[in-house]
Amino acid sequence: MASMDTLTIKTENKFRSLISKQAYKKGEVICEIPTEKVVNKPNRYTVQIGRDRHTNVGKLAALNHSCDPNVILDTENLLMYACKDIEKGDELSFFYPATEWEMDAPFICLCGASNCIHVVAGARFLPLSTLEHHFLNKHIREMMIELLENTEQHLVKLKG
Ligand SMILES: [Zn+2]
Repeated sequence: MASMDTLTIKTENKFRSLISKQAYKKGEVICEIPTEKVVNKPNRYTVQIGRDRHTNVGKLAALNHSCDPNVILDTENLLMYACKDIEKGDELSFFYPATEWEMDAPFICLCGASNCIHVVAGARFLPLSTLEHHFLNKHIREMMIELLENTEQHLVKLKG
């Protein structure tokens, strides 16, 4: 199994990023997602892997968000894989709302992608029309459906 040895953290002006020390082809597994410590609330070092499950991901906490990412975190199979061809020395990034429902520390995205979502706060704050263009983990899809059903019920009640 591929390990995290192929990844290195770069720090520049206190800004951390995760760099790949080797090339990967689209679809290739890069490493397993560590689940050393699972907590019930998100923080800057966790990735959400279930409704109330957030795991400390070690080195992977240095992964930055991108609206046009090159890796996917598959929290069902606990694998990180390339969703684009990656060159040696490339920074790795993933789409945070693909794992995060409601983030502890939202921020403004300046990635410059044409499909930039601007406010990165978690999937619950994004319209379906945006989310449907991205890989989403099972827990995010489930919570999204639940939110839609609750909204529908609420609207039915309002109509009397
Ligand atoms: Zn963006």
